[in-house]
Amino acid sequence: MEKTLAIIKPDAVKKRVVGKILTRIEEEGFEVSEMEMKKMTKDEAKGFYIVHKGKPFYESLTDFMSSGKVVILALERENAIRHWRLTMGATDPAVATEGTLRRQYGFSVERNAVHGSDAQETAEWEINYFFKK
Ligand code: ADP
Ligand code: MG
Repeated sequence: MEKTLAIIKPDAVKKRVVGKILTRIEEEGFEVSEMEMKKMTKDEAKGFYIVHKGKPFYESLTDFMSSGKVVILALERENAIRHWRLTMGATDPAVATEGTLRRQYGFSVERNAVHGSDAQETAEWEINYFFKK
């Protein structure tokens, strides 16, 4: 079984679609192995998105990610990383496939409702970032 890190971003929490997204997570066959609701500090958001440091959207993204509560989840399933990326859809909600979470609940390329790890190494690093044992 593979694990991935998912985040329900502040825009989706404010829109009150946490329940709908959790339902979708369960319907897609994921087991929720960790879950925490919290408001990230700016430094915590900057650390999480360190790979994007230097990109033009880094400041704005980390402001956004620390602007309100998020729900952070470790999800387990066969092919969890790829399956969650497919469930989320493309980064830009405007071009994400119909039926994906970003298409359904995203507002813009930045405020796109959900996060998902992109590879096995990053998934391990991201899960450890929030759920260090
Ligand atoms: P993904 O979340 O699909 O893996 P990236 O890793 O490229 O996408 O980017 C991380 C996050 O940064 C995106 O989910 C989005 O919130 C934000 N982002 C990415 N590209 C842009 C952009 N061009 N403008 C504003 N925000 C962006
Ligand atoms: Mg990414």
